[in-house]
Amino acid sequence: MTGAARDTSPGEAAERLSDIGRRIAKAAREAGRDPQEVTLIAVSKTFGEEAILPLIEAGQRVFGENRVQEAAAKWPSLRARFPDVELHLIGPLQTNKLDEALKLFDVFHTLDRDKLALALMRAREKGAALPRLFVQVNTGEEAQKAGIAPQEADMFLTRCREEWKLDIEGLMCIPPLDEEPALHFALIEKIARRNGLSRLSMGMSGDFETAVRLGATHVRVGSALFGTRG
Ligand SMILES: *Cc1c(COP(=O)(O)O)cnc(C)c1O
Repeated sequence: MTGAARDTSPGEAAERLSDIGRRIAKAAREAGRDPQEVTLIAVSKTFGEEAILPLIEAGQRVFGENRVQEAAAKWPSLRARFPDVELHLIGPLQTNKLDEALKLFDVFHTLDRDKLALALMRAREKGAALPRLFVQVNTGEEAQKAGIAPQEADMFLTRCREEWKLDIEGLMCIPPLDEEPALHFALIEKIARRNGLSRLSMGMSGDFETAVRLGATHVRVGSALFGTRG
């Protein structure tokens, strides 16, 4: 499942990267924030090495993938060559893929249920080093979307931290397509604040500036960097 990027020349990739970087910095400064607080995750799903390499060469080191299988096919060889790359899992995770995901990813953005939290706890008991963890909140309460319901988030976070001793770094959301994303960003910001969490994974190609203004520490940008997915 690898598509060709619109244009993969190193110059073009570097230009898109610096354009996104500038827009993030501008949105941060307008909100009185330090642009350094915002990490750009380049979402490379569906794109192959030929599209990813120019971005790595332009200095990008943080990448996101939404499928374990696809990441397993693409990233081990790239990571061997670029050991300082950091890989983020931004798609739903089935517990039967957990061991493989633990080998591939530095950060999970999609911890969303007890079963997965328990599986993480068991993996740690068996000696696995756990990734950094974000809890996904289904802010739009959409049946087809993963994530813990907003009204259950406080309880879930408490269970993660107190019962399972999982170190939760922040919250993540994917707003419904047809709704104002700012409402959803503000909602996870509020849940994060009352739970003492400082990191927010929110904002994609169409709305990352809004997300940065509302406190995003991690924006997940795919098509604005790589072109339209085929
Ligand atoms: C694909 C994807 C993105 C990136 O979306 P773009 O609109 O292409 O920037 C961000 N977050 C998640 C969870 C995704 O699956």
